[in-house]
Amino acid sequence: MSNKVLLLNASFEPLGIVTDRRAVVLLLSGKVEAIAVHDDAPVLHSPSRSIAVPAIVRLSHMVKVGRNRTAPPPSRRGVLRRDGGRCAYCNASADTVDHVVPKSRGGATSWTNLVAACKRHNMEKGDRLLAELGWELPFEPLAPRTRLGLVRHSTDADPLWEPYLQAS
Ligand SMILES: [Zn+2]
Repeated sequence: MSNKVLLLNASFEPLGIVTDRRAVVLLLSGKVEAIAVHDDAPVLHSPSRSIAVPAIVRLSHMVKVGRNRTAPPPSRRGVLRRDGGRCAYCNASADTVDHVVPKSRGGATSWTNLVAACKRHNMEKGDRLLAELGWELPFEPLAPRTRLGLVRHSTDADPLWEPYLQAS
């Protein structure tokens, strides 16, 4: 089972993902309330209490969050998720990540230089630039900009989180 817990602000805005352990500590301290718990959630026992590990917790007090948060470094899974699991060059199912400007040509491992690609196109492209192949990107790769985007792209979402990840 998932050991990741979605942390919501008092306003129900997703703030991030915490470990189950952290979520239980927050619960015990009264800083958060459990919003959703899986039926088969593991139960942690302290000397005085038994607590089912929640899937979602919500802060009891609103915290202010900065608008311009730096995106975390891109992960393979994050890029695949951002691009909907589709190859940027042919729209087929993608399971690799391609450096648009190849590393060997000075391309960075950054959100703006990585796209999802099928194995065939990743191989075919090799160390060449798009201009050399006459290929074009159908979109401009961007880093997830919102906190929501960061949460969405950072890990596999628990199905229970979905209603909270769709807002805004
Ligand atoms: Zn492809």
